[in-house]
Amino acid sequence: MLNIVLFGPPGAGKGTQAGRLVEIFSLTHLSTGDILRAEINAGSELGRQARQLMDAGILVPDEMVVNMIAKRIENAGSNSRGFIFDGFPRTTPQAQALDETLAKNGQAITKMLALTAPEEELVSRLLKRGTIEGRADDNEESLRRRFEEYTRKTLPVAQYYAAQGKLLEINGVGNPDEITQRIQQALAPFIEA
Ligand code: AMP
Repeated sequence: MLNIVLFGPPGAGKGTQAGRLVEIFSLTHLSTGDILRAEINAGSELGRQARQLMDAGILVPDEMVVNMIAKRIENAGSNSRGFIFDGFPRTTPQAQALDETLAKNGQAITKMLALTAPEEELVSRLLKRGTIEGRADDNEESLRRRFEEYTRKTLPVAQYYAAQGKLLEINGVGNPDEITQRIQQALAPFIEA
């Protein structure tokens, strides 16, 4: 099993790289942001609760995403070769809950891949995405809040995995192909044949 946490600030390219890694390693993609947006589009009660927070760039409550993810890990069964967690965990309690759920299912995180890029580059990528994809939270006000949330609540998660010897930092500046190559090189020693 290969279980990857894809980590990085808003705009680091997590979604793009997740899509590629899913194909390369036949992993199951679990993006809490995508799942929450699907709940909003479906008009569910959960989506209704999440919407205002997401539009404002504030993290939704831990238990909301922890339960969503636990359900999917438990339902994946033995067909999956592993998971790629994208945008999750975003707080230390989420990381602890993920470790517990995986352990209950006889699994563990293999590595955290942390994509790094300078803040100016991130902001310009996100404002561009806001115009192209029309994501409600890719505006300047919400972006500022998302960076604050990232620095205050999410950055410590890298420390959590570093303490377990699982942190791999990847330079996230360059074209998507180059970045995928860097990731494959970094992961190569940890892939079972
Ligand atoms: P993303 O698509 O990953 O950028 O997530 C968009 C928004 O969804 C975030 O700004 C949060 O409001 C919410 N969200 C996504 N994942 C999480 C998470 N793991 N914990 C809390 N909030 C989340």
